[in-house]
Amino acid sequence: MEQPSQPSIDKMWKYAEKYAEKSGTHLHPQREITEAVVLGLASHVDRFGRPICPCNFYPERNADGTAPEGLYLPREDEAKRRAWICACDEMQKFKYCHCLLFVTEEGLPITEYLPEDHEGREIYGLIEDPTPDKGRALGRIEEARRGETESTAG
Ligand code: SF4
Repeated sequence: MEQPSQPSIDKMWKYAEKYAEKSGTHLHPQREITEAVVLGLASHVDRFGRPICPCNFYPERNADGTAPEGLYLPREDEAKRRAWICACDEMQKFKYCHCLLFVTEEGLPITEYLPEDHEGREIYGLIEDPTPDKGRALGRIEEARRGETESTAG
């Protein structure tokens, strides 16, 4: 990987520190883990203009210029949608960061809110959220909507 520009690195460090605080999580106790993720995010900012998650496998576009179907789109297409731009949907819904950028004080990803068949649960088991009053903005919105629908239906 080409070394990202210093302004992008600085921006991503600042973002990571702020978002960890806001979401009630911690940066990983092993600094090299955080450093690797921050560099990956900064590299995507330089190349695609957005901090796309660096820990996924993204396909290339098809020869005819279309995007192959699947969970992940080519990076240039991911840059245009929300799902894997940090903080990704999984972080905002479930407070789960598979890159280990936003974790508990001990360096574990929070898995409490994940669906039980999610690979994060399979890998790490149940890791409870030590700060349930923070983070999960999207998850809370969805829960509130579900609550409204249920009370309307009931
Ligand atoms: S929050 Fe999501 S996008 Fe950001 S580093 Fe973690 S897994 Fe990747």
